[in-house]
Amino acid sequence: MAKELDSLKQYLVDARERKYALGGFCFWNYAYGMSIAQVAQKLNLPMLYIIGDAEVKFFGGLKNAAAAARTVAENVDVPVILHADHFKDYDEICRAIDAGFKSVMIDASAYPLEENIERTAKVVEYAHKYGVSVEGELGRIAGSEQHLSLTEAEAMQTDPDEAAYFVEKTGVDILALSIGTVHGEYRFPPNINIPRLVKISEKVSIPLVMHGGSGTPEDKVAEAVEHGITKLNLATDLVKTVGKATAKVQQQPGFGYSVANLYAPAYVDLANYAEHKMRLLAKNIL
Ligand SMILES: [Zn+2]
Repeated sequence: MAKELDSLKQYLVDARERKYALGGFCFWNYAYGMSIAQVAQKLNLPMLYIIGDAEVKFFGGLKNAAAAARTVAENVDVPVILHADHFKDYDEICRAIDAGFKSVMIDASAYPLEENIERTAKVVEYAHKYGVSVEGELGRIAGSEQHLSLTEAEAMQTDPDEAAYFVEKTGVDILALSIGTVHGEYRFPPNINIPRLVKISEKVSIPLVMHGGSGTPEDKVAEAVEHGITKLNLATDLVKTVGKATAKVQQQPGFGYSVANLYAPAYVDLANYAEHKMRLLAKNIL
């Protein structure tokens, strides 16, 4: 009997209460996913995978991705959550839920507030029928290529009053914020707006999420967790860790190509990276 995937909400509600966070680790292949899950198992934390459109393609579709995550679940004793990251299309989200996803993000943050609310609420209505958690996003998260002035950066960030209104109108379970992190690698020094997070946190009681965890200074991450951040998305750093490890091992004298020779160091580095981040995020309960 295959183990089912878990929903996300209850874990993040607990995380907000007890002031810790889960890393959302990008899932693009079973073997790497498994090496991170073994760390979650060791620390007795839920294994939270995030998966976007591009990674779904590597699996050959939503059903295969869900099946791969379920196979991980069969091999560990901790809950496994597969979270659809930045999905924008209602029909695609319904397909993910039909494929067994129990956690989805609807990113309608590019739309004006009322349209974002309408699109998000529609997903909530469908998802909640199946016990699926929904993350919405308010405010825009910059790409690493965008060089913004401080005023421009602030203008894109989540407004505390709008956040409270958005949560009330949509019924979302989890809220992704824009408070100065970027997607991808930072090309400019990060400026994380903790005062704004504090204000949002006072008005919004559901779990809050920070995207763009790669390269964000760890003292700021720890501070954000104290103020309501319960999930930190990590993708770029994982790819970089694997890329660097596989490049480095090939420079060693006498290196011979085999799957084990090429990839074993990457598995080890990935597990070490994941353990470091999990311990940082969950230090209040570990
Ligand atoms: Zn994101």
